[in-house]
Amino acid sequence: MTATSDRRALVLFSGGQDSTTCLAWALERFDFVETIGFDYGQRHAIEMDCRDALRSGMADLKPTWASRLGCDHRVNVSALADIGGTALTGEAEIRMTAEGLPSTFVPGRNLLFFTFAAAVAYRRNIRHLVGGMCETDYSGYPDCRDDTLKALQVTINLGMDRRYVVHTPLMWIDKAETWGMAREIGGTALVDLIRTSTHTCYLGDRTEQHDWGFGCGACPACKLRATGWQRFKDKFD
Ligand code: ZN
Repeated sequence: MTATSDRRALVLFSGGQDSTTCLAWALERFDFVETIGFDYGQRHAIEMDCRDALRSGMADLKPTWASRLGCDHRVNVSALADIGGTALTGEAEIRMTAEGLPSTFVPGRNLLFFTFAAAVAYRRNIRHLVGGMCETDYSGYPDCRDDTLKALQVTINLGMDRRYVVHTPLMWIDKAETWGMAREIGGTALVDLIRTSTHTCYLGDRTEQHDWGFGCGACPACKLRATGWQRFKDKFD
């Protein structure tokens, strides 16, 4: 482990509200921050298209962020779509399944993402891995759980003979507090950037703009985001 690697972070960056807040969090803490995004035929691939605009928007917010923000890695994991059977990649209706999970659940997705991220970090001499997983107002995805990710950190460290640190700064806060964290880190300018340029809607709808951002307004992701925004306004404004 070289001295510099401890100042380097890789952020799992989808272009959504949570991962953008995590990118800001990392840019405040680490000297070199790179991003990684995964293409897997998700039907809200529009999230991926927001990434470049968000990265340059972040760099414009603070000169230190501009100097710290490094390269972007884009990894194709289309095998996830080949496995199929989920509303996130196919045309299936978004609903609750018999297992009590939304039909958008892609089994083991975050396990794969962190493992790919660690493989990239290995090559880039990066120690810190950052993800926006949260088990406070999540949909019950088992791979978002704190215990899952702590176990995964141990597994990756053993499997790659490294000492990665997995950070999940949003794990114990809700959506309203995530907006609050963004404002604490980057002020109203960051909140506005996240509000207008991130994408959360499962259906990829960017035709209608609400005060909480673009989206269909009806899917579970839009509802969660709208509720969180309203609670943020009620609580912090
Ligand atoms: Zn939606």
